[in-house]
Amino acid sequence: MTDYLKRSWAVVNLNHLEHNFRLIRQTVSPHCMIMGVIKADAYGHGDKYIADQLVRLGVNWFGVSNLEEALSLRQQGIYHPILVFGVTPSENVRLLNEYNVTQTIYSAEYARELHAMAEEAGVGVQIHIKLDTGMSRLGFVLDNGFADTSLHEIEEICAMPRFNAQGIYTHFACADELNDDSIQYTRGQFARFMAVLEQLEARGLTFAIRHCCNSAGTINYPDMHLDMVRPGVILYGLNPSDDCAGKADLRPVMELYSSVSMVKEIAEGTPVSYGRCYTAHRTTKVATVAIGYADGYERELSNKARMLVRGQYANVIGRVCMDQLMLDVTHIDGVKAGDLVTIVGEDGSARLTFDEMAELSGTINYEKVCLIGKRVPRLYRQNGKDVGVVDYIRHKA
Ligand SMILES: *Cc1c(COP(=O)(O)O)cnc(C)c1O
Repeated sequence: MTDYLKRSWAVVNLNHLEHNFRLIRQTVSPHCMIMGVIKADAYGHGDKYIADQLVRLGVNWFGVSNLEEALSLRQQGIYHPILVFGVTPSENVRLLNEYNVTQTIYSAEYARELHAMAEEAGVGVQIHIKLDTGMSRLGFVLDNGFADTSLHEIEEICAMPRFNAQGIYTHFACADELNDDSIQYTRGQFARFMAVLEQLEARGLTFAIRHCCNSAGTINYPDMHLDMVRPGVILYGLNPSDDCAGKADLRPVMELYSSVSMVKEIAEGTPVSYGRCYTAHRTTKVATVAIGYADGYERELSNKARMLVRGQYANVIGRVCMDQLMLDVTHIDGVKAGDLVTIVGEDGSARLTFDEMAELSGTINYEKVCLIGKRVPRLYRQNGKDVGVVDYIRHKA
């Protein structure tokens, strides 16, 4: 497996995934189910090993963004219930049925279209109803006088013979923000959700699985867990936001490494990389590193970020290129080609995080892990052993 360790690679720690999952399991009540959200290839961690490990740990459901992600899980032998959060084109209704994938229903128009196709195909579909309580994304609209229309529509949909409406859910817009206004907003979303459930119940409609909590909701609002929670980012050991930092003892699942390709000394006044936006202000020892923006190490980090070499921090100097970048290692003794470069992870007593990278490029840790490129092999580690590799380039169909 060591030939993977020559350029750049990610290490995915399955023990840390286990730790985070158990933490969530202890946070929610014993009868509350856990939907592991593994959309976007398990937030860039690779859905195959993550899903298998979550099944072993006792996850109840999986959440994905689209049908393709659901089918990818089925094809690797995952038989757990799967909910698709996004739209499945109604032509694919047979696949929903054949692979027993649950579809989100977010509007009457979509429901009628999907149901018509289900009739035509002669198949049934499992559905969860999605309410828009304040995110303005997908879901039945509840304010501006639309609540009654939505209630009627939901009633109509649940009575459609090809549909089996097992669940109902909503999604929070700011459960990760702990200022008074955001807390009030989240409580308002929850109150609207519960009010609709009550009105539907009055019409004789109940749902076995009511759910609304993402990671931040799971951590911050124990009174809103209901029948199931839908954690994503905390499974991977990342904080949903700064406000949530320290509220749960999470362990980061992904580490990111690269290697030094070449070390050279350049004279004062010598420019570094494209556009010459960095110039050596003294004799400088430069290490060229085999990672770039095509690996998900964004160009935005040019001249801003730092990495670890031989236990010491080294600044990224000059523009990040597609496949390579340069570090100033003048202050670090003995750096040579082949040396390990830690981008996210620990080296000695020093540590780097996706949070720091995200902050430097003005984004969030979620985006950073999702953007780790397909050129970066994922190495899975458990109990100190390498237990598998996913290499997207080599195993491309
Ligand atoms: C992505 C997503 C989640 C998980 O969000 P996290 O913040 O990562 O926990 C839950 N529910 C829905 C509908 C989502 O789209």
